[in-house]
Amino acid sequence: MYGYDTFHEELMQSLINSVHDGLSSHAYIFEGAKGLDLMSSARLFAAALTCRDRAIAPCGACPSCKEAKADTNPDIVYVNSGEKKSIGAEQMRALEEDVAVKPFAAARKVYIIEDGAELTEAAQNVFLKTFEEPPEYAVFIIIIENLAPLLETVLSRFTLIHFPRVSDAKVREYIKSKYPKETDKLDFLVRYCAGIPAEADKIVGNESFEELRASSLETLGALLSQSKAHAFTVSEFAEQNKDRFGEALDFWLSFTRDITLLQNGAEDKIINIDKRFELEKLAERFEPKNVVKTSEKIIKTQKMLARYVNTRAAAMWLAL
Ligand SMILES: [Zn+2]
Repeated sequence: MYGYDTFHEELMQSLINSVHDGLSSHAYIFEGAKGLDLMSSARLFAAALTCRDRAIAPCGACPSCKEAKADTNPDIVYVNSGEKKSIGAEQMRALEEDVAVKPFAAARKVYIIEDGAELTEAAQNVFLKTFEEPPEYAVFIIIIENLAPLLETVLSRFTLIHFPRVSDAKVREYIKSKYPKETDKLDFLVRYCAGIPAEADKIVGNESFEELRASSLETLGALLSQSKAHAFTVSEFAEQNKDRFGEALDFWLSFTRDITLLQNGAEDKIINIDKRFELEKLAERFEPKNVVKTSEKIIKTQKMLARYVNTRAAAMWLAL
């Protein structure tokens, strides 16, 4: 769309229309999962806001648009923590000074806060002060995965734009064009992404992901048997994958849920469609109520690990 990759064309079109009609808000929160690439949507919106021709913004041809595309537009300011872990009050005060300086060439000056979760509470309070009387030309966009780190007072002053998960068809289109060779795994990838296209980027070509996923499936029978005879297999597996045991638990949970779906005749809903044959065998071998019980135990084990119970103890508990 206008040369920008956005997964949310309709949403962006209505935002861009609001630029044509004269803005109603000067502060936006773009909220949505990281894998939805909200940054590209924010760049597109910033280009529309700084374009010299408001009626057809972003025209793509004016100097502002060209610079926006090349990320060299002096009236689009990217705010991030850089080397530090967070954006503190001091950095916000420096930003406040910058906000006071008029735009270089465009009619507006756009500030994109790349990850709102990095804003400390003190920084948010400085920000609110800037906001009491912001100059007419300033527009702020905060990108954030979920709203929890933001103060109520910040939330109440910003226009919230929620970026939802996209359709499977869109995810499929993304994977097919970016990874044309992944035809065998395509169905699994689409289901795994669950509406967040860039989730695929984490796992395509990631051999260690596939290895751990395969060995988790191999060990699943031992886990589901919940017997002393097989507990050793499970704890040995956990020991070998100590550093990635959390990830293995995610795989197990995903598999046990699929087995329950298969046992209930809902095979169209399973995620691990490429492992269907193996999962069907397990679905026949184990009682449905035991599979559900194992799922529940996996969830409890995840919570134990979050409380820093050691892997060996957690694995032994899970196996028996
Ligand atoms: Zn333009």
